[in-house]
Amino acid sequence: MQERLAFARAAYDAVALYDPKRTAVELDLTDNTNLWGIPPTAERTLREMPVAAVTRYPTLYAAELKAELALLHGVSADMIVTGCGSDDILDSAMRAFGEPGELVAGSEPSFAMIPIFAQMNALRWRGISERSTTAAQHTGHQPDIDALLATTPKILYLCSPNNPTGALIARASIERAIAHARGVVFIDEAYAEFAGVSSIDLVARSERVLIIRTMSKAYGLAGLRLGYAIGQPSLVMEVEKSRGPYKLNAMAERVALSALRYDSEWVAEHVALAVTLRERLAGALRAMGLAPMPSAANFVCVPVAQCVAVGQAMRTRGVAVRPFPALPHVGDALRISVGPWPLMERMLSALAPALREVNG
Ligand SMILES: *Cc1c(COP(=O)(O)O)cnc(C)c1O
Repeated sequence: MQERLAFARAAYDAVALYDPKRTAVELDLTDNTNLWGIPPTAERTLREMPVAAVTRYPTLYAAELKAELALLHGVSADMIVTGCGSDDILDSAMRAFGEPGELVAGSEPSFAMIPIFAQMNALRWRGISERSTTAAQHTGHQPDIDALLATTPKILYLCSPNNPTGALIARASIERAIAHARGVVFIDEAYAEFAGVSSIDLVARSERVLIIRTMSKAYGLAGLRLGYAIGQPSLVMEVEKSRGPYKLNAMAERVALSALRYDSEWVAEHVALAVTLRERLAGALRAMGLAPMPSAANFVCVPVAQCVAVGQAMRTRGVAVRPFPALPHVGDALRISVGPWPLMERMLSALAPALREVNG
């Protein structure tokens, strides 16, 4: 443990650098990015990038991209804010709405970055275990909305479909959270394309809700760092102020515009493929005697005892999946990104011997 610098911020004592333990491996199924690659027009735009995209500053607040995203979602451009990945949106929005010391609450398990962003903004984090599966058998793993609301957080974070479980949050729960929230409700929809449902329409009804989306997953552009959020203009304006100018780089904006204008068919096709293969993968896991959790995203979460050791044993066979030890109401589990079927077969052929090796 390093000694704190005398002049460092006290709130940063507990902040650790993010470390998902990612190392080079032949087949990486740990981050739920698009394993089919980049959409074709987006790729062409990237390859033909004019030098001016690098030598000159990007646009201030990505107005052209906001207009295109507004078209896609049927909202006005002043209801959209873009960012350097949705991570940047989450960070900026926490800074915009949370005074230091105020509370961010969210269901557990969920996106691992949220407590880190709370800490980075000197906010307090409170994780509330999701309701037990027995109480929520029909809807899968669901957040405990009453317990979350009872903490009266300044920021309530919900993720649907949820990372890492894959569970879609029931519409009624989201509506109730928004109706009773005293602060702002963030709904992280990083995987909404794969679920085919969204809460974007709720934005029209409430000035408290911010929907957060990304082009890192369905659009295959994780390395360019493109995120955005949708909310009422007054809400979005505060995030824009907190985000600051020039945050979206010029190459990212140009590639994103191409993808949105010309690649929607490619994206839809590959989303559909991911959904089909997700169910096929779940079937293959069941055939091995495992019980994968229902998923609305482009990954499958499957309970596996000794998940860290199993993950290690798979890694020695050239395949990386993400272990989640001791998830509430689940226990140890592996989260596996869905991609082209040959990759899934390769993964299964590493999982089977790894399970035998570790769990007998
Ligand atoms: C991947 C992911 C993100 C991060 O997306 P970026 O736009 O790449 O920053 C946000 N939320 C969840 C739940 C994710 O899984």
